Amino acid sequence: SRRQAEATATGPGRTSDGHRVALLANIGSAADLPSDGDYEGVGLFRTELLYLDRTTAPTLTEQNTAYREVFEAMGDRPIVVRTLDAGADKPLPFLSQTGEPNPALGVRGLRLARQQPNILDTQLSAIAEAASDTGADVRVMAPMVSTVAEASDFAARARWAGLEKVGVMVEVPAIALLAEDLVEVVDFLSIGSNDLSQYLFAADRQSSAMPDLLDPAQPALLRLIARCAEAGAASGTPVGVCGEAAARPDLAVVLTGLGVTSLSMSARALAAVRHALSRHTMDECRDLAGAALSGALVKD
Ligand code: PEP
Ligand code: MG
Repeated sequence: SRRQAEATATGPGRTSDGHRVALLANIGSAADLPSDGDYEGVGLFRTELLYLDRTTAPTLTEQNTAYREVFEAMGDRPIVVRTLDAGADKPLPFLSQTGEPNPALGVRGLRLARQQPNILDTQLSAIAEAASDTGADVRVMAPMVSTVAEASDFAARARWAGLEKVGVMVEVPAIALLAEDLVEVVDFLSIGSNDLSQYLFAADRQSSAMPDLLDPAQPALLRLIARCAEAGAASGTPVGVCGEAAARPDLAVVLTGLGVTSLSMSARALAAVRHALSRHTMDECRDLAGAALSGALVKD
């Protein structure tokens, strides 16, 4: 059965001929970590949960405690913490801009630092302190980056706070088009295919009326991802995918063929993706990627 077959593939992600692709978990708290321990790290730690149901921002000490709990569970595995992504589909009562006519196009994610930089700086300090308290391999990345200037400003703030490995999410088409420049100012890229689809296709990710446009197999999305993967390969910069695309076994194989170096997904998706990778050589992944770039995986 499929379940039995999936259970036979364990350990690090690799194609049948041994090409490695790190299989990582998306989490919102320690409770989301894969219970069987079979994962290579956390590719996306969404920190919004800490800020929910509050009238003021959590203090540095409160945050430090929460981050330490997660970091302590990591052992030697790397973890990528995403700074607060408030706004749009993740409204936070005390932060989100009220009365924005188009919240998805408004002050969300890193953009909040334009108005309240102290919230970002406090978070970065709390992450850096928890990293040094626990000795965990902590990286940090920003959501909703649209210019290289925003990326370098974020990197400078994170490094000033004491964090050494700094990346950004690629979820706005404008920054994907500048991937070659972006890799000059950050240490890694993480493609958020959920928002990248939304902004590339001008299709609300919260709407159920346009599933074909939000299909992560759309060739326009895959071509943009391919461009990022190429810029990463040319500069030796890791490029991961942490949106829903990474959790689809058929697309995980395609993304690997495009040169993506890690796939991050909810714990329950890991086994099927690991199994799919183990069934293809890297050359087969590249062939499937070539076909997908021409639309082979879009259903019509
Ligand atoms: C994404 O946009 O693809 C992503 C991973 O982040 P989120 O779903 O939290 O916006
Ligand atoms: Mg996103």
